[in-house]
Amino acid sequence: MKQDKHVFDNVLQLIGKTPLIKLNKMTKGFEGDFFAKVEAFNPGHSSKDRIALHIIEEAERQGILTPGDTIIETTSGNTGFSIAMVSIIKGYECILAVSSKSSADKIDMLKSMGAQVYVCPANVSANDPRSYYEVAKRLHNEIKGSIYINQYFNQLNIDAHYNSTGPEIWNQTEGKITHLVACSGTGGTISGISKYLKEQNPDVKIIGVDAFGSVLKKYHETREFDDKEIYPYRIEGLGKNLIPTATDFDLIDKFIKVTDEESAHTAREISRSEGLFVGYTSGAAMQALKQLSEDGEFKKGDKVVVIFPDHGSRYMSKIYSDKWMEEQGFFDSKTEVSESIQYI
Ligand code: PMP
Repeated sequence: MKQDKHVFDNVLQLIGKTPLIKLNKMTKGFEGDFFAKVEAFNPGHSSKDRIALHIIEEAERQGILTPGDTIIETTSGNTGFSIAMVSIIKGYECILAVSSKSSADKIDMLKSMGAQVYVCPANVSANDPRSYYEVAKRLHNEIKGSIYINQYFNQLNIDAHYNSTGPEIWNQTEGKITHLVACSGTGGTISGISKYLKEQNPDVKIIGVDAFGSVLKKYHETREFDDKEIYPYRIEGLGKNLIPTATDFDLIDKFIKVTDEESAHTAREISRSEGLFVGYTSGAAMQALKQLSEDGEFKKGDKVVVIFPDHGSRYMSKIYSDKWMEEQGFFDSKTEVSESIQYI
């Protein structure tokens, strides 16, 4: 291994140490300096590489996993891809239980990474034996030598970011960070980073980003679960219809909500103005940052870090498709890309 020469034993050695990139155009006119932690630079193109590696290596340290064993999770998204990648290198079987709502592209991507995919009906309740939660639990019980990652309820999800993302941000900002803006899904990213940063400087302000249609913001404010907050929304990976124990609500100063439409346009704007091809939740986090700036949250001299969790390539049939944008009623001629194609 010659990491100084950028030569590696395997792809897992490239997880973490992602760059912090200054946002120049998106933040024109805002008070403060703004930097994106661009998690698409992980080899699996998202922040979930960190938790997959940490949770699997912790199970190895505890002697729960040995080569040939099976790793199970309920996800069609980034976590599934990362677990599949780590499983290939370490020699584990990977089983992913996904909802039938998942796009064919996503299922093909997971299959391409060697995962065994169980497609479960989307229109059944969580406790139905056919739901992806129940299928994952059953397989975990049936398969000897298996672990269930269970990212929404696994404290190791927080630890992964406490050990890696938090210290990286502290060092990259030379301890001068004043605000962190991060999307909350499982809450592992924001809670782990916050725990580390607040240990270094309790004044760092931690702002969570939530979706309209999710319960997180209301729960943070009232500590009560209000199912009236729940309704369908488009952004994947942000917000939730339950309270994940991988979120430490005491470590988050406040939540801000963003819309599906503005987040989609903002992601497209980041790609076109900063040259960073980012996913839907990066648009959501940037949209929150814009709203906070308009509300006077930041002042001159502040150093604000926003997390961009994944890469735009996973959203070609969604926010980067004009057709999809039009179908959602999000179309905006300012961001139309088809105009820039010339057919000869
Ligand atoms: N963005 C994307 C695209 C995600 O998949 C997730 C994870 N659900 C998040 C943001 C939120 O990260 P976390 O789960 O650590 O809160």
